[in-house]
Amino acid sequence: SRSIALRHVSKKYDRGSYAVQDVSLMVEPGEFLVLLGPSGCGKSTVLRMIAGLEHISEGELFLDGVHSNETPPHQRDTAMVFQNFALYPSMTTRENIGFPLKLRDPAADHGPQVEATARMLAIEDLLERLPGQLSGGERQRVAMGRAVSRRPSVFLFDEPLSNLDAKLPEHLRAEISSLTKELGVTTVYVTHDQSEAMSLGDRVAVLREGVLQQISSPEELYTLP
Ligand code: ADP
Ligand code: ADP
Repeated sequence: SRSIALRHVSKKYDRGSYAVQDVSLMVEPGEFLVLLGPSGCGKSTVLRMIAGLEHISEGELFLDGVHSNETPPHQRDTAMVFQNFALYPSMTTRENIGFPLKLRDPAADHGPQVEATARMLAIEDLLERLPGQLSGGERQRVAMGRAVSRRPSVFLFDEPLSNLDAKLPEHLRAEISSLTKELGVTTVYVTHDQSEAMSLGDRVAVLREGVLQQISSPEELYTLP
């Protein structure tokens, strides 16, 4: 797994306003960092800059100590995980989980890797089913399987449901925690929900209007005013 470092990173949009301003933080290898803050505070922008989906206006990004501002997304060894878990509806579980592997190496046999991933998520009995034949919870597991199958070093969890007051179910939180620990990946997880942040994060970084307010353990976060 890998470290992530942001040094005085800013994101400026056309009209000159900052979506993210002078953010410096370090995520240690294997650490689970939560980015917490209200909608519009810049969480998603930080995540997208780490993934390479958004250009960094000012400052520097280091992945595993290597300056990576200009590294293309597919060369970053990061995986973006969306909480709405969109699966390809015409693909079976096996095909969904194998898809990122096939993209990377179309000729190879990915069966063993797909099956190992399915075992880890306890969905090995669902490999030949289509998403329409799965329950909601099973679909979420398959989507997580798709995100982890190529064993990226960094997981970036986005929260596209932030305006809908949708909460991540308790059992899925536990699953995300144990999965990331088992894989030893470095994780940055975006949420507006404080209880979610506190139950998942090794540390929590609080963003407000594009500015980093504090980084602390969940316990310390709780005792701050
Ligand atoms: P969050 O993920 O915390 O909800 P975002 O990172 O999506 O916040 O957005 C941060 C701020 O940047 C918001 O004020 C948003 O309107 C603005 N923003 C995001 N994308 C763009 C863009 N492409 N052009 C201009 N402003 C943007
Ligand atoms: P996301 O959660 O992926 O950031 P958003 O709803 O915030 O989704 O944004 C959807 C798209 O619109 C993104 O490409 C984002 O960059 C862009 N966008 C968001 N806010 C603004 C804004 N204030 N002005 C222009 N583009 C924006």
